[in-house]
Amino acid sequence: MLDYVGLEEELTDGERAFRDEAREFADERVRPTIADHYEAGTFPEEIIPEMGEHDFFAPNLEGYGLPNVSETAYGLLMQELEACDSGLRSMASVQGALVMYPIHAFGSEAQKEEWLPALGEGEAVGGFALTEPEHGSDAGSMETRAERDGDGFVLNGQKRWCTNSPIADVLVVWARDASAEDEPVRGFLVETDRDGLEIDSIDGKLSLRASSSGEFTMDDVRVPEENVLPHVSGMKGPLSCLTQARFGIAWGAVGAARDCFEEAREYATDREQFDTPIGGFQLQQGKLAEMATEITTSQLLAHRLAELKERNELRPQHVSMAKRNNVEMARDQSRIAREMLGGNGITDEYSPMRHMANMETVYTYEGTHDIHTLILGQDLTGLSAFE
Ligand code: FAD
Repeated sequence: MLDYVGLEEELTDGERAFRDEAREFADERVRPTIADHYEAGTFPEEIIPEMGEHDFFAPNLEGYGLPNVSETAYGLLMQELEACDSGLRSMASVQGALVMYPIHAFGSEAQKEEWLPALGEGEAVGGFALTEPEHGSDAGSMETRAERDGDGFVLNGQKRWCTNSPIADVLVVWARDASAEDEPVRGFLVETDRDGLEIDSIDGKLSLRASSSGEFTMDDVRVPEENVLPHVSGMKGPLSCLTQARFGIAWGAVGAARDCFEEAREYATDREQFDTPIGGFQLQQGKLAEMATEITTSQLLAHRLAELKERNELRPQHVSMAKRNNVEMARDQSRIAREMLGGNGITDEYSPMRHMANMETVYTYEGTHDIHTLILGQDLTGLSAFE
């Protein structure tokens, strides 16, 4: 496995063991059937409790049966899951960083006790509903409203692109509290069997096919007061969750690119043309050298991010830089790897084309590449080009 500057040596035994456990799980339980799931447009749901047994959901959180591993160990987990498929990493990212994290950070004690063990063990599945049909990058303009009604709230609105939602038990729905001054955004835990909630799968995706994506309408969905996340109000609620998830994506993209590199390197040494392994040609060596360099520099950025996060010095803008850089890197390098595999590279026998298609989603979700560029632009100049 590509580790050109010896980052392996910096890991603790525990981090190495957790990384190996994730790699083995992905290779044995998911990789053999991932191309079939990709073609069918399905997520292998039967592995969710197994992922729970392996502590793959929010393992960097503490309490409620969660192991509180280091941020590097968490990053390595995301890297290994995405080396298999971005759909696998997305499932774990949403469950851990976008559902368990807000409950852990902003939830009541009762909410934590009800949901964190079940979600951590993979007995329950969660989704995060911020995006709406008419509001993606500009999520703060959301139209979904929660009206106070006696001792609870009534939710109305539409959400789109909610990963896991067709298979979820609970959704973290972000909505404007219409009964409060300035209508702040609040987080609501909405069980998927509530009346008035209608969830549909989004079919016809040409990217992230091995992932369950949904959209839903809420038509007078009633939730009790105790389903509101009590300790956060405003867009900092969803945005702080996204920072957690984007940290995982910065690591995950390195995994996807590494998998492409390994396939291309192996192919280049096996495949002969003009009586020579194609890896002996300077043009192909140039591609491998570029790929290895790009992956290595992205790996270094991911490792640095984990150090900063561990020290509580990580800023959302650091995460924007890493998400922006590492996903663009994986998007570019997966295409080069596909190219090195010639015609065989367009089949599902090899991973690069699947990773390449997945990267179109990863480039767009959790803040598009453009939006992260604008976040960095604002940080570097003090001038906002988008608010
Ligand atoms: P738009 O915001 O309409 O953007 C369209 C284009 O305009 C983009 O290229 C964008 O970069 C550009 N653009 C927008 N504003 C500006 C600007 N100010 N300056 C320059 N360019 C701009 N959301 C959730 O809430 N939960 C999920 O679980 C989830 N999962 C997803 C899974 C998949 C497979 C996909 C595809 C999306 C998912 N999303 C999810 C939604 C995702 O976060 C949004 O797609 C993303 O935020 C972009 O929003 P949009 O698609 O509406 O594009």
